[in-house]
Amino acid sequence: MGKNLTKRSEDYSRWYNELVIKADLAENSGVRGCMVIKPYGYAIWEKMQAELDRMFKETGHQNAYFPLFIPKSYLSREADHVEGFAKECAVVTHYRLKNAEDGSGVVVDPEAKLEEELIVRPTSETIIWDTYRKWIQSYRDLPVLVNQWANVVRWEMRTRLFLRTAEFLWQEGHTAHATKEEAIAEAEQMMEIYADFAENFMGVPVIKGVKSESERFAGAVETYCIEALMQDGKALQAGTSHFLGQNFAKAFDVKFAGKDGQQEYVWATSWGVSTRLMGALIMTHSDDNGLVLPPKLAPIQVVIVPIYKGEDQLEAISAHVEPLVKTLRSKGVSVKYDNRDTHKPGWKFNEYELKGVPVRLAIGPRDLENGTYEVARRDTLEKESVKGEDVVDRITFLLNEIQDNIYRKALNYREAHITKVDSFETFKDLLESKGGFLSAHWDGTSETEEAIKEQTKATIRCIPLDAGEEEGRCIYSGKPSKRRVLFAKAY
Ligand code: AMP
Repeated sequence: MGKNLTKRSEDYSRWYNELVIKADLAENSGVRGCMVIKPYGYAIWEKMQAELDRMFKETGHQNAYFPLFIPKSYLSREADHVEGFAKECAVVTHYRLKNAEDGSGVVVDPEAKLEEELIVRPTSETIIWDTYRKWIQSYRDLPVLVNQWANVVRWEMRTRLFLRTAEFLWQEGHTAHATKEEAIAEAEQMMEIYADFAENFMGVPVIKGVKSESERFAGAVETYCIEALMQDGKALQAGTSHFLGQNFAKAFDVKFAGKDGQQEYVWATSWGVSTRLMGALIMTHSDDNGLVLPPKLAPIQVVIVPIYKGEDQLEAISAHVEPLVKTLRSKGVSVKYDNRDTHKPGWKFNEYELKGVPVRLAIGPRDLENGTYEVARRDTLEKESVKGEDVVDRITFLLNEIQDNIYRKALNYREAHITKVDSFETFKDLLESKGGFLSAHWDGTSETEEAIKEQTKATIRCIPLDAGEEEGRCIYSGKPSKRRVLFAKAY
């Protein structure tokens, strides 16, 4: 129906880019690697934010805000941290421009050089731990449970709309605790919250696990993560939660006096999800006709399209529809009644299909006579005729049903794409022919991990938390291994 979307089976990557643009979610900007998030895309992000924010507050966290800029010397304090982020930092060196002498525009004023260069935050551990030194003196000041909603900049070389951008929006939680156990429990709790959000709101099944050493956050002792699988068999890291040990407390000299009066370094966590979640949402559910959105995050849950000839028919339909719109809104359903006469019904059907509106109602003169609506669901594209008195219940049912159905579908796909592999040959074959997660034994060394990555592009996505121990041999080195880990090619 004229959407001209590339099919997923033809070119998945192109399908994704076209969909993001045609569904009006985001577009590229004049700044390399930085995107413009358009109102429809931003509306979905706002729904995600609202839900996550609610979950954070329910577990005792508060929002605060820290500076965009970080003095260069701060970043260097934690050795692993600076090593990890140095390669992708944007640096501010001057604070003023002046008119060029040849009249060609403005140039950087060499006299306005900053004494200390500033880094545009790639993440805020350093500036926050510099602040926590002032906030924390005694065990009574702990825990500190703070989150910030912000933008960050990582100078990524290969960018993709939402999935990997140079500037992205995210939230970053930064907590401080009196004990190691408490900090670990916090990091685990946040991973659980991310998993809950991904599965129950986004409809995206995820695997919870910990990262191998080489994939760990720069400066973390342990990185917990949730990993999702996209429809092309590639994995996507959807969220991370780090146990930071006392690394940042030591780097910024943040100590507290315990109940016994002894000074001890504070224990830390940090955790974040970003606009990458938008990419996960799009890639998990959408099809060749466009977006498929989970009702819980859809900016418009129900659209009603009148089919009419002439003013009189439109007026009659509008009068008939008005109480339905009111009832639905009073039940918290977001409804759009699209009575624009600038577009034909067929165009509108197409548009809302492309934009993933979960339920579409159409009503024409014959429906009006019969007291019915044509109800179409976006996930299966099925249509039915529903009596006026049943339509509110049917819509409520469908919104729940679509939310469940797209999750089930994604889960079935994921389950069908986790394969146990016991030889490197099969591993390589399966990566090419089928993709998905490959569950294999690994000897636990970074060398083996690196060699596998070099030869196959697959990385260890995580060491799953719910997988028990199992004796085996590393698929690459043949050395003994105690558990399987999940490999995949990833975004
Ligand atoms: P990190 O601070 O590296 O643990 O990342 C926190 C969250 O941001 C994770 O969920 C990442 O998947 C996500 N993320 C990392 N880099 C980018 C990027 N360039 N664009 C969008 N999201 C990102």
